Amino acid sequence: MPSTFDVIIVGGGLAGLSSAIHLSKQSLSVLVIEKNSYPKHKVCGEYISNEVLPYLDFLGIDVFKLGAKKINKFQLSTTKSKLISTPLSLGGFGISRFCLDDALAKKAIQNGVNILQDAVEDIHFSNDEFSIGTKNKTTFKAKMVIGAYGKRSNLDVKLNRQFIKNKSPYLAVKTHAIGDFPEDVVALHNFEGGYCGVSKVENESINLCYITNFKTFKKYKDIAEFQQEVMFKNLYLKAIFSQTTAVFEQPLTISQISFEDKKPVDNHIIMCGDTAALIHPLCGNGMSMAIRSAQIASLLIIKFFNSEISDRETLEKQYLREWNKAFKSRLRTGHIVAKLFNQPKIFEVLMQGLKWFPGILPHIIKRTHGKLMRVE
Ligand SMILES: Cc1cc2nc3c(=O)[nH]c(=O)nc-3n(C[C@H](O)[C@H](O)[C@H](O)COP(=O)(O)OP(=O)(O)OC[C@H]3O[C@@H](n4cnc5c(N)ncnc54)[C@H](O)[C@@H]3O)c2cc1C
Repeated sequence: MPSTFDVIIVGGGLAGLSSAIHLSKQSLSVLVIEKNSYPKHKVCGEYISNEVLPYLDFLGIDVFKLGAKKINKFQLSTTKSKLISTPLSLGGFGISRFCLDDALAKKAIQNGVNILQDAVEDIHFSNDEFSIGTKNKTTFKAKMVIGAYGKRSNLDVKLNRQFIKNKSPYLAVKTHAIGDFPEDVVALHNFEGGYCGVSKVENESINLCYITNFKTFKKYKDIAEFQQEVMFKNLYLKAIFSQTTAVFEQPLTISQISFEDKKPVDNHIIMCGDTAALIHPLCGNGMSMAIRSAQIASLLIIKFFNSEISDRETLEKQYLREWNKAFKSRLRTGHIVAKLFNQPKIFEVLMQGLKWFPGILPHIIKRTHGKLMRVE
């Protein structure tokens, strides 16, 4: 493998792999450095907005051939088990990260992308060039680096990013289960201190993924007790968990999930996906934001290598501008909605309002989602 590339992408999740495929279509030399192997399960609700379908098609990925489930209904319940349902105007699909990330990685390799399994430990920028050091003590050089290493990494500490200095109170748990659940529904069931997403993925499994604050969670001895004592007060959750059989031996967990502001360009690195910002999972939009940010970055980087963008500073400013235009408003709405979810009494009143004025919920959903992506 060469040691110098046009573009090095740190992290091979949705953002990293989408941009790798896009850039490789323009014959740029691309290296993705990913610390894990494929396929791998990830903590994620696995409901993706349809807005990404035209772009996935451009990248050569047909999610329905992979078995993705079409989802066009949304259900929302309160901690007291009050339920409302609404059609999803744009809709989405359910597919596991185990399947989708693997398909993207295979497509990237087919397109000539180098994927290296290693962890990036250092990124330095000097003399208009990046130098990247890995855990296995290899050094690579590149003109351009995309940071797509997800929500949180030791790299954030190395890069001295502000958000990593603050503790975050959220943790998340995910499992797949077998049982009855409609294919076309994504449900969001609330419980004290958190919410749980439920939807089907490609292999008939039901994704059960919840996020909660540590303060509520730590009162209980383990996940089973927490689910029993807190989550099952919502009767929808009680029914789903008790009438299905978990597929994973142990649920997957992550902690320290931060929704704080980050810089989409940091240390000259073009940050994509969760490395640039994480929207509250209740919006079901993080994956499409990751994929869309990959498209924005790729289009600009191609212009940079074609000399349509003359210098790095212009590229960085333009990325920032386009990133803000695409995501600022939905991130803001996501924060407001999450705050309301966190206050059960206000949320109960809001739910009553939503029952009386059913047009409001689709409007809120629209505000946390984008339009169908255009392919250029
Ligand atoms: C509980 C929860 C539920 C969610 N549910 C949904 C949902 O239903 N719908 C939705 O759209 N979004 C959802 N999201 C958000 C969604 O999961 C993310 O927005 C999405 O995964 C972002 O993709 P990414 O490519 O930016 O990061 P990731 O998919 O996390 O990829 C980052 C990659 O970088 C690698 N990496 C990290 N550090 C290094 C390193 N130093 N060197 C090399 N590789 C490294 C990691 O191994 C990983 O593969 C949810 C998030 C959470 C927390």
